[in-house]
Amino acid sequence: MNGGTDTCLLHCFVMPLAAPPKDTYPAAISHVHEGSPAYSAGVRAGWELLRVNGEAVTDVLAYRRELERGDVMLLARDPLTEEEVTFTASWEDPGLEFSEVIFDGLKLCANKCEFCYVHQMPKGFRKSLYVMDDDFRTSFLYGSFVTLTNLSERDIERILDENLSPLYVSVHTANEDLRRDMMKWWRLKVKDPQATRIRGMLERLAPIDLYTQMVLLPGRNDGVHLDETLEHLASYDNIQAVACVPVGLTDHRRNLPELRPYTPDEARDVLRRVHAFQKRMLQERGTRFIFASDEFYLLADEPLPRGDAYEGFPMLENGVGMIQDFLGDALPLLPTRLERPRKVILGTGKLFAPVLERAVAPLREIEGLTLEVRALKNRTFGEVTTVAGLLAGRDFLTQIEPGEADLLLVSPNVLKYGTETMLDERTLDDLRLGLKMNVEVGGTNLAELAQAVLTGVGEMHLPQFGFSTHAVKEAGRQH
Ligand code: SF4
Repeated sequence: MNGGTDTCLLHCFVMPLAAPPKDTYPAAISHVHEGSPAYSAGVRAGWELLRVNGEAVTDVLAYRRELERGDVMLLARDPLTEEEVTFTASWEDPGLEFSEVIFDGLKLCANKCEFCYVHQMPKGFRKSLYVMDDDFRTSFLYGSFVTLTNLSERDIERILDENLSPLYVSVHTANEDLRRDMMKWWRLKVKDPQATRIRGMLERLAPIDLYTQMVLLPGRNDGVHLDETLEHLASYDNIQAVACVPVGLTDHRRNLPELRPYTPDEARDVLRRVHAFQKRMLQERGTRFIFASDEFYLLADEPLPRGDAYEGFPMLENGVGMIQDFLGDALPLLPTRLERPRKVILGTGKLFAPVLERAVAPLREIEGLTLEVRALKNRTFGEVTTVAGLLAGRDFLTQIEPGEADLLLVSPNVLKYGTETMLDERTLDDLRLGLKMNVEVGGTNLAELAQAVLTGVGEMHLPQFGFSTHAVKEAGRQH
């Protein structure tokens, strides 16, 4: 939340020690803006928001909705001293920022999908990586995909009443029996059996814009099932786009249904169907509507579509158009030689390495620059995992020799959002120490990468995606 600047000394008063009401969802306050009503009332970071207008608030959306009423009374508490403060704000921002956007606990999924990434993660990572978030509120706020199977009637009404649009929905298939078989929901966790019927849910959410995805499993929901699902989804005006991505697998599948990756021929069949449907949709709707993830093109060894064929990259987070987006900006003017010779390693996953190799070819002309694209095996999840974003610190430490280069550049997508920490809690400093070389982030496009190669200074702005962890992103992709 952004804080307001108005002071509000007259609005607040301090209450003596009192137990908080039972029906609250204490919202941890991470920051209080100076000069705001909350600040003037004595509320500080570390306190909790308990109530707004006498009501418990479940999430930041409900909080904002209360603020829209104009005059609000807020109750906050210091959890250490249990001091409580009530203060008011009138058509102004109270000045609070929160650690989390959901106050009453994330809504977890009610499924046991045979392709779930969380179920095939190695043990030992931080707990948050195993959280099976399936919350429509984070879908609206951050664009994470939800299955809808855990919704209650009240949730659906809230989505419609508050116009939580757009939402991001994992459809996988419009064939109800096949969807149930692929997703295997837990009967006791499903609040409303109607919510498991994807066709009915798409009908109910007709006023809401939807971006949808299909995780494709070879021989399962592709082929004619893919055609039929696309046909069905295209019959809704509110469905904006469909992304299809291949199933992601690790070497840690234990006691799970047998699944295998796509063969090049199978990937080509998916692309053939996608392209045929795109052609038709361009004529009928003026949009390609369906987009295949980059991974399908790389698996099929087929050329990627041009950048403009992604129509503004609406499904970038699904890996749809990431490569063209990365290659998009022109290279800066390159020098003919470096003042001081330098060896630079670009550490990436096996899937992206050949593309990067071709993209950085012009830099190889620079005298004094030794540039190597290092295709790292993923020893954390297993070699079947080839995307760069799932490389952990240990993958760099075990496949690059200490001191063998002056600079290592890594993708920002290997870092936990907004931090310098990787999947296995190792940091960029750990890599610098272990590899005895400078380690920087290579930026989010080719121009930034070239700049980092030339200057040795990385682009430390945040990863372009709003996922909190790679696995959460990956799990989100799999929903
Ligand atoms: S893929 Fe997503 S919806 Fe399915 S079981 Fe895993 S976390 Fe739940």
